[in-house]
Amino acid sequence: MKKDIHIIGSGFSALSASCYLAKEGYNVTVLEKNETLGGRARQYKKDGFTFDLGPSWYWMPDVFERFFADFGKKPSDYYVLDKLSPGYEVYFGENSSLKISENLEDIYKMFESEEKGSAKHLKSFLDSAKANYEIAVLDIVYKPGISPLELVTTKTVARVTQFFSNIRKEVRKNIKSSKLIKILEFPVLFLGAKPSNTPAFYNFMNYADFGLGTWHPRGGMYKVIEGMVSLATSLGVNFELNANVEKILIDKKRNVSGLLVNGKTIETTLVLSGADYHHTETLLDEDLRQYSEKYWDKKTFAPSSLLFYVGFDKKIENASHHTLFFDTDFDLHAEEIYDNPKWPTNPLFYANFTSMTDNTSAPEGKEAGFFLIPLAPGIEDTEELREAYFHKILDRFEKLTNQEVKSSIIFKRSFCVKDFKKEYNSYKGNAYGMANTLLQTAFLRPSIKSSKVNNLYFTGQLTVPGPGVPPALISGKIASELIKKNKF
Ligand SMILES: Cc1cc2nc3c(=O)[nH]c(=O)nc-3n(C[C@H](O)[C@H](O)[C@H](O)COP(=O)(O)OP(=O)(O)OC[C@H]3O[C@@H](n4cnc5c(N)ncnc54)[C@H](O)[C@@H]3O)c2cc1C
Repeated sequence: MKKDIHIIGSGFSALSASCYLAKEGYNVTVLEKNETLGGRARQYKKDGFTFDLGPSWYWMPDVFERFFADFGKKPSDYYVLDKLSPGYEVYFGENSSLKISENLEDIYKMFESEEKGSAKHLKSFLDSAKANYEIAVLDIVYKPGISPLELVTTKTVARVTQFFSNIRKEVRKNIKSSKLIKILEFPVLFLGAKPSNTPAFYNFMNYADFGLGTWHPRGGMYKVIEGMVSLATSLGVNFELNANVEKILIDKKRNVSGLLVNGKTIETTLVLSGADYHHTETLLDEDLRQYSEKYWDKKTFAPSSLLFYVGFDKKIENASHHTLFFDTDFDLHAEEIYDNPKWPTNPLFYANFTSMTDNTSAPEGKEAGFFLIPLAPGIEDTEELREAYFHKILDRFEKLTNQEVKSSIIFKRSFCVKDFKKEYNSYKGNAYGMANTLLQTAFLRPSIKSSKVNNLYFTGQLTVPGPGVPPALISGKIASELIKKNKF
């Protein structure tokens, strides 16, 4: 008889795990509290515009290829990928921006023209980043985070100093241009912590950026979700929407016996939760939780965000598909996220206009705009604050890109801390999980298997390997392999 596995949530990690577990022959049901699948990667459609609500940078295409290859498939069986050119653009001041080419040789030239001699340093930095990428992404991040020994290989031992140095130091060793420093420090922001708090080994993100490039699935990131759902369905996974899990039921032997879903009890033999880890533990009685509130409070969480999805009645100029606005003090904003949480004095922000390269995301002659300001998790969130910051960044946007856009806004929707909590049960309204710092890497992260409840497992951005879409795909694989290994 097939064994039953219920998966809580339908984000990237849950979908990934559902495919692996169904392939192993388990009877898999995904329970999603919201009315659409995809978790933080859901889609929002309005008046002919389409927005990805969350992730928009498709990096590390090899990880997606590896996922689909495990099922004899390719990404192109489900969606069309375009390599963006430029990959992205970074603003440093009024009419002052640099475009990151899709071509490495052009990037070297750009570095050299900004700072004489920097191309040589970039080359050796990227050689080390590529070697780290091969060690990390081909091997280490696929380990279950059970033992410190997983990190000990001849290759990692040779790089041990890189775990105790940090990205900020490493980048600044040879590069002096503040623009180039900002560009090189940007990729690790995806890992959720300050560059000064992220081990230098994580420079493999720079190889992901310059070496592998920035891609866009035509139709948006949601196409990847649709592809995974299609794969999962073909493998026999059942999906239940509007299925809010209210409690995990445990028998006297500390085995999972069922779930309380929308007030009704359903029986199950194993639960894998892809919902935020902290929230999942609150579905258990207190004595069955592994981590205290104090534990969570001490952890470095990735930022929350204030987001705006904006429909513009005209095409936007002087910006690219992905545009970063790094014209203000990076250190001050980081301090206001991590050290002294408050609404940022002068925030850095990010904008994307997917309709510049993908005509499916806005009606002809119009532009779909997505704006993101990173914020401290748990911060006060009011309509007034959202509105004030919208004007703050749009004023800056207009000035920096030398155009008027406010009068062309057809509609806007905001999303912030309160929504992250309400929509995803996110701890303190974090946007993308628990950061990858030295003390929050591998076996030092919340574990994939509960140590207090039999047959309860976790996946997603608060466990191994960490935040981001590629790690979520990997997390689902790790969790399902552990379930199989434990002979459930
Ligand atoms: C604004 C934003 C921008 C981002 N940008 C990028 C990017 O450009 N590139 C990138 O790689 N990554 C990006 N990320 C990070 C990436 O989106 C996440 O790391 C990843 O999608 C997380 O997947 P997950 O499976 O861990 O969790 P989630 O996607 O959060 O899935 C958890 C699911 O569990 C459900 N759930 C919660 N509680 C319950 C319950 N009680 N019952 C039933 N269901 C429940 C939730 O509704 C949700 O669907 C971004 C994230 C955000 C928010």
